[in-house]
Amino acid sequence: RQPVDSPLYPLLAAASDYYRQALKSHPARKAAVEYLKGRGLSGVIARDFGLGFAPPGWDNLLKHLGGDALQQKAMIDAGLLIENADNGKRYDRFRDRVMFPIRDSRGRVIAFGGRVLGDDKPKYLNSPETPVFHKGQELYGLFEARQSNRNLDEIMVVEGYMDVIALAQQGLRNAVATLGTATSEEHLKRLFRLVPSVLFCFDGDSAGRKAAWRALEATLPSLQDGRRARFLFLPEGEDPDSLVRAEGTDAFRARINQQAQPLADYFFQQLSEEADPRSLEGKAHLATLAAPLIEKIPGTNLRTLMRQRLAELTGLTGEALQTMAAPVTDAN
Ligand code: ATP
Ligand code: MN
Ligand code: MN
Ligand code: MN
Repeated sequence: RQPVDSPLYPLLAAASDYYRQALKSHPARKAAVEYLKGRGLSGVIARDFGLGFAPPGWDNLLKHLGGDALQQKAMIDAGLLIENADNGKRYDRFRDRVMFPIRDSRGRVIAFGGRVLGDDKPKYLNSPETPVFHKGQELYGLFEARQSNRNLDEIMVVEGYMDVIALAQQGLRNAVATLGTATSEEHLKRLFRLVPSVLFCFDGDSAGRKAAWRALEATLPSLQDGRRARFLFLPEGEDPDSLVRAEGTDAFRARINQQAQPLADYFFQQLSEEADPRSLEGKAHLATLAAPLIEKIPGTNLRTLMRQRLAELTGLTGEALQTMAAPVTDAN
C-alpha cells in the first residue's frame, strides 16, 4: 500500500525534527508552548506524539532543508513546500502552526497536520496526498496507540488530532482519528485486523452524528461473528477532548461502560426514527432501508439475528425480507 522506500521518508523525518526542535528553541515558540499548555497537554505527551511548531514566516523550512533545486522539488512532492503556479516562487506550506506528525504503522512520518494557534482559518491544514500519504487509509494515532500497548482489545475512533492526544493525556491511549475524511471500509478492515472491538466516539453535533452513521455503514462488511462495534454519543457541543478534560478519566470510562451502544441497537434506533414502525407504511419503509444493509454483514449469526429483529419490528417474514434485500434487476 505504501512504497517500501522513498526519498520522501528521510525528508519528512527531517522536517519533523525541525518542527520538534522549533517547539523547544525557536525564538517565537512561546505562543505555541502556551497554546499546548492551555489545552492541558504535558511535555511527555508532546514528546510521545512528536508535536512540533512551524514558526511564522514563509521560508523557515525551505532555508533549513531546501539546499538545492532537487531537494526543493522533493519537498514539493512531500507536501512541505508550495510552488506558486504563476511565478514559480516556493514557500513553506506550514507557517505559524502547531504541528502534528502523522506516522504510518511502522512509525515513519508520512504527513503533517498543523493547527493555528488562534481562531484563524483554516483551523487545520493537512498535507496533500503524496506518494507516501493516502488520507483515506491512514489513521492518526494508530502507531502511538500500538506503541503504548501491543495487546489492545478495543480501539476508539474519534474525529480530531486533539481528541486523540487529550484522551492519551488522560490515560486513554487507544484512540485514533481519521484525517478529515469519513471513516472508510479500508479503515475498519485495518482496525479489525488489530482488535476485535471498535468504539466510535464522534463530536456531539450534527456532523458527528452523520459521521457515526457513515461509520456504521463502513463497519458492516467487517462484522464477522466475534467482532463488535459500539457507538458513544456525546452531549451536544462536546467532543472527546472537551469532555474528558471536563469530567476526567474515570467519569469518561464510566460513560463508555454505561452508554456505549452496540451497533445493532444504534442501527434499529436510527432507522426507526427515519421510518416509524408503528404504522404499516413505516414498517414497509423500515424494511426497505434495513434489509439491504443487514445483508452486508458477513457474520452469519449476527446477520440472522438482525434479520429476526427486523422481522419482529415489521411483521414481515424472513422470506419477504430476503427478496427485498436481493439486488433489484428490473427497475420497472
Ligand atoms: P480543536 O479542538 O483543535 O478546535 P477539533 O479537532 O475539535 O479542533 P473539529 O472541527 O471537530 O476540530 O474537526 C475535527 C477534525 O477534522 C480535525 O481534527 C481535523 O483533522 C479535521 N478538520 C477540521 N477542520 C479542518 C479544516 N479546516 N481543514 C482540514 N481538516 C479539518
Ligand atoms: Mn466537529
Ligand atoms: Mn471536535
Ligand atoms: Mn475539539
